[in-house]
Amino acid sequence: MRILVLGAGFGGLELTTRLSDVLGDDADIVLIDKADGFVFGFSKLDVMFGRTVPEAVRHPYRDLVKPGVRFVQSTIRSIDPAARRVETDAGAFESDVLVVALGADLDPAATPGLVEAGREFYTVDGGFAARDVLASFGGGRVVIGVTSTPFKCPPAPSETALMLHDYLVQRGLRDASEISLVMPLGAPIPPSPAASEWLLAAFAERGIGWHPEKLVRSLDPERRVAVLADGGEMPFDLFLGVPVHRVPAVVAESGMCVDGWIPVDPLTLETAYPDVYAIGDVTSVGTPKAGVFSERQASVVADALLGRHGRGAASTYDGKGICYIEFGHDRVARVEVTFRSGERPNGQFDEPSDLLLADKAEFGTSRIRRWFGRDWTAY
Ligand SMILES: Cc1cc2nc3c(=O)[nH]c(=O)nc-3n(C[C@H](O)[C@H](O)[C@H](O)COP(=O)(O)OP(=O)(O)OC[C@H]3O[C@@H](n4cnc5c(N)ncnc54)[C@H](O)[C@@H]3O)c2cc1C
Repeated sequence: MRILVLGAGFGGLELTTRLSDVLGDDADIVLIDKADGFVFGFSKLDVMFGRTVPEAVRHPYRDLVKPGVRFVQSTIRSIDPAARRVETDAGAFESDVLVVALGADLDPAATPGLVEAGREFYTVDGGFAARDVLASFGGGRVVIGVTSTPFKCPPAPSETALMLHDYLVQRGLRDASEISLVMPLGAPIPPSPAASEWLLAAFAERGIGWHPEKLVRSLDPERRVAVLADGGEMPFDLFLGVPVHRVPAVVAESGMCVDGWIPVDPLTLETAYPDVYAIGDVTSVGTPKAGVFSERQASVVADALLGRHGRGAASTYDGKGICYIEFGHDRVARVEVTFRSGERPNGQFDEPSDLLLADKAEFGTSRIRRWFGRDWTAY
């Protein structure tokens, strides 16, 4: 069975690792990604706030040595889901089973004024570049704003506000600064009222302005104001933006999307095309766009494919995920959430502590050990 996995992010790495671990050299897997390495989403914030350096958080794909897996670094130019065939800069690839794990692309240019007057911090390059912008920031009004829904890792803008507070305190600039957080959600983490309450209390304690149920539509570079969807305006000296998310162009052009994302069976991750699966941020499966969900979906697809090799039983997707939330002051909280189709999501919250910082570090360390076979410490 020739398996073609598109995208070596959270989903693609987990899937190929699971398959290789069980099938070894019996596996016939090609994994394609245009990037030269993997970076955790949370590492972007760590670099941005000077906790670490870019070289320490990039995990090169050249270190991927898995029996039965061939990694190809190339840009995918077209996907034919009916034929399970793709065209890339490195040639064409055909498969018996195709798995699309290409994530969500970010489009800063879709928000007028963002590229000219603001800073996006959601791409790897944007997050790393924000480090220098913050390092030369002399204090003033900072607006952290979301420009569309859905967006990856819904807690990340709240974490950014809290980490920014600590950063500005450390640099003696907090008294000369204002921090405002503009979010389209009614609460920082809607499925977990307890996490939301803790976050709102932390914002209040630190004087962080919380602006719920609002979206930033554009920035006016001349007046340096963020224009909101409801017509309101917020002046800024530094705008840190979460850009518009969409599927990569190659996915949009494949004809697989409905309302912008790939629909899948929420239990099996199968698409409308036979033997074509989609996992993670590229889908509209109903979970938030976060790595932990992509990873668990990958596991369900791995079970299905291993079952077809006569190696284990198929499983169904349960919508569970654990998110770590940075609260600043070196403390981290944890939310365990379950999103099941047709049910209200529910979450279990563990209060911020320094012990959970160690848990979060282990989350990263264990993935790098499993996926890349090497040691790495996040903190
Ligand atoms: C600031 C920030 C903090 C975050 N923190 C967390 C966190 O703490 N926990 C968590 O679970 N999630 C977090 N996330 C979210 C997480 O990073 C994503 O949701 C996750 O990576 C999605 O996994 P995926 O496998 O669906 O796609 P991705 O990991 O995005 O992988 C998609 C891959 O496809 C490749 N690709 C795309 N188009 C092409 C093409 N045409 N040709 C070839 N390759 C292509 C890309 O290079 C990429 O490697 C965070 C995100 C951000 C921005």
